[in-house]
Amino acid sequence: MPSTRNFNQASGYAGYRSFDYLSPGVDYRPYEWTSEIDRLPLYDLGLSPEQAAHAEDLLQNNLVISLHDHPQVFPKDMSKAVEYGQSGRYPVGYEGLSYSGMDVVFDNLAGPTGCIMSHYSWTWADVAYDIGHRLADIAHQDFVRIVRTVDDIKAIAGSGHLGWVLALEAASMIDNDIDRIDILHGWGVRQMGLVYNESNLLGGGLKESSDGGLTRFGHRVVERMNKLGMSIDLSHAGDRTSIDTIAASEAPVMITHAGARGVWPSERMKPDHVLKALAEAGGLLGIEAAPNSTMSPDHEAHTIESVMQHFEYCANLMGIDNVTFGPDTLYADHAKIHTEFSTLFGANVDAVEPASEPAPLTRVGVQPISATKSEYCAGFENPTENFRNAIGWMLKQGYSDDDIRKVAGGNTLRVLGQTWR
Ligand SMILES: [Zn+2]
Repeated sequence: MPSTRNFNQASGYAGYRSFDYLSPGVDYRPYEWTSEIDRLPLYDLGLSPEQAAHAEDLLQNNLVISLHDHPQVFPKDMSKAVEYGQSGRYPVGYEGLSYSGMDVVFDNLAGPTGCIMSHYSWTWADVAYDIGHRLADIAHQDFVRIVRTVDDIKAIAGSGHLGWVLALEAASMIDNDIDRIDILHGWGVRQMGLVYNESNLLGGGLKESSDGGLTRFGHRVVERMNKLGMSIDLSHAGDRTSIDTIAASEAPVMITHAGARGVWPSERMKPDHVLKALAEAGGLLGIEAAPNSTMSPDHEAHTIESVMQHFEYCANLMGIDNVTFGPDTLYADHAKIHTEFSTLFGANVDAVEPASEPAPLTRVGVQPISATKSEYCAGFENPTENFRNAIGWMLKQGYSDDDIRKVAGGNTLRVLGQTWR
């Protein structure tokens, strides 16, 4: 059987596993972990041997950046997912990442799955635990290296090491203390969402029936993030708050993990006017691939084909310079995570990725929408395979090497150059 282990492996990986510096069962509660290798069969793109070799060359010898992932490992027994979420210790999938071909990954600390202190919100104490534990683990190995500047990215590309960018899903835990953004920047955070689905002091979330837009405090946060040089993410913001933020920010902003509402009519997808405004301001969209998110009425299941339909729609609408991938994947049964955390959050199920339940909507000219819920997104399931498959898919469709380089990492590097300081 073809195996992930046959992929080229990063030379900088020396076999470290998370928390090797501690004693399992003494210092922390160990689980039987999900395999980072071959949990599911490899996806076959149907490339010729020449195409496969060309795709691998593009992957290995160009800058590849994932704009949004959660490269952590969950327990194999997903009935333990909530208990694990509250344990405060989340291993990184170092081995899986070593086969990914990526140069840099934006690691989004989990927000709702990191709620140690509270079932319903991500507190300041939660974020301190999440960041601190991750930094301590990273400090005990050398494969993953922390990236804080554009020069750091340029230096790590092709080095055999993986650059790691600390990112947060939302800023709700700063409460109304704007100086906490400086603290987060000091801890290494280089990208942060403003809002997570439900409104907060900064602006409206995408789950609200009405979005009041970016608040006065939200404007101050945008200004402070611009001054610090921290990327702004609008993935979970409402449409009006997104338009307001794009207009308010001096630096280009990002929607790190979403797709097009013009393809799939979910509130989690973005309408054309938001995507166009984002591109006109020089911003960047990362195409999402979490299970049952970037679906399409043209594809019965959620696979790389529907993900890439969102990609092509957005590239046509926004221009190829403004699109990349923020797959939003991890090492686990992601669909089961949605189910397990829905149980925890009860009526506040919105706190997990809302895309877990595809909305039974219809769209003008296309009905009924027929995609069914998938157990996983074949071809875009985990951080090890995502970019290898995306590049192979684009190559097979006839995209030029230049366009593939832009989408794989060049666009992200350009936007970061206009944002980080
Ligand atoms: Zn998210």
